[in-house]
Amino acid sequence: MRYRTNRRTGDQISEIGLGSAYIYKADHDEAVRTLRHAFSNGINYFDLAAGDASAFPLYGEAFADVRDRVIYQIHFGADYSAGEYGWSLDLDTIRKSVAWQLEQLHTDYIDYGFIHCQDEDSDWETYKKNGILDYILELKKKGIVRHIGLSSHTPSVIMHILDEVKVDMLMFSVNPAYDYGQGEFAFGADAERRAVYERCEKDGIGISVMKPFCAGQLLDADQSPFGIALTPYQCIRYALDKPGVLCVLPGAQSVQEVDTLLAYEKQKEEDLDYSMIAEYTPKESAGKCVYCNHCRPCPMGIDIGLVNKYYDLAKAGDELAVTHYRTLEKNADDCIKCGHCDSRCPFHVHQSARMSEIAEWFAKK
Ligand code: SF4
Ligand code: SF4
Repeated sequence: MRYRTNRRTGDQISEIGLGSAYIYKADHDEAVRTLRHAFSNGINYFDLAAGDASAFPLYGEAFADVRDRVIYQIHFGADYSAGEYGWSLDLDTIRKSVAWQLEQLHTDYIDYGFIHCQDEDSDWETYKKNGILDYILELKKKGIVRHIGLSSHTPSVIMHILDEVKVDMLMFSVNPAYDYGQGEFAFGADAERRAVYERCEKDGIGISVMKPFCAGQLLDADQSPFGIALTPYQCIRYALDKPGVLCVLPGAQSVQEVDTLLAYEKQKEEDLDYSMIAEYTPKESAGKCVYCNHCRPCPMGIDIGLVNKYYDLAKAGDELAVTHYRTLEKNADDCIKCGHCDSRCPFHVHQSARMSEIAEWFAKK
């Protein structure tokens, strides 16, 4: 398993994590075995916006003895008093729900306490007015909440909240369908979504990814907005290529499904290539590098995707990206304008010209 560091908190987070929307559907023993199997194979990051209350005792049973080695996202706004998941903006309901979740999980602390599911500015105003943010901050002061998280599907709302609260982890819906304006939660234009990724990378806020398969639609040609099926591995790579992203959180309800996810770590590079989606690129995104590296190999050994990522981040004000760019063994200065990448890029990026632009920009920096 490969791990990525949350620069805000220092946590080492497995790039494959687990969501908990469906685990309750498995039979009890298989569910506990599934969670334990994930942990034994290096998965250490778990989201607990569960689909049903019955998920919590399963986690409690699976991880009570290794609690200090697993990292939980717990959501202030998820209510399980009716048995299944419900969304709440009521402080008293949330207090009771969080206390109940901690009891079921056999723990007395929360790694990431999440401001839960804020998709509208009005939700956020109510959240604050009802004292829920203050409650999270009070628990943080007491050391019960270690770090603050935020989950949302809406770029504009995310930006407002990041302006107001020191968030350490964002849970965001990242997949090619939403980035290309397709699907139920395709909120925000391409530029707004890119701005979220870049801000998180710049500020060291980690992103954990919900809905990496667009609720399974991207894996099925009949349901996919692109009319083609992607593999889970192409979707995972797509999300992990985005600036700021630390891990993906797909669901699993069996040992076998966990094994399928773990196999991502062993895939060949060519099997992770998702550049076939280029055909469906919306007009406003055409000609923009998505860092996929489909255009490799560069005869000069330039990591084209990485050079472009650092450039975009540096232009967005990320000083660390400037430092990273300068430490690359090969950068835009090494480009000989052979044109290989231009002919290979399915996203219509005129990359050789972009390399000149990049070299010039960093020379002036
Ligand atoms: S230039 Fe095109 S193929 Fe190369 S990394 Fe960028 S988007 Fe991918
Ligand atoms: S044009 Fe430059 S970046 Fe592209 S393949 Fe040739 S040398 Fe590499």
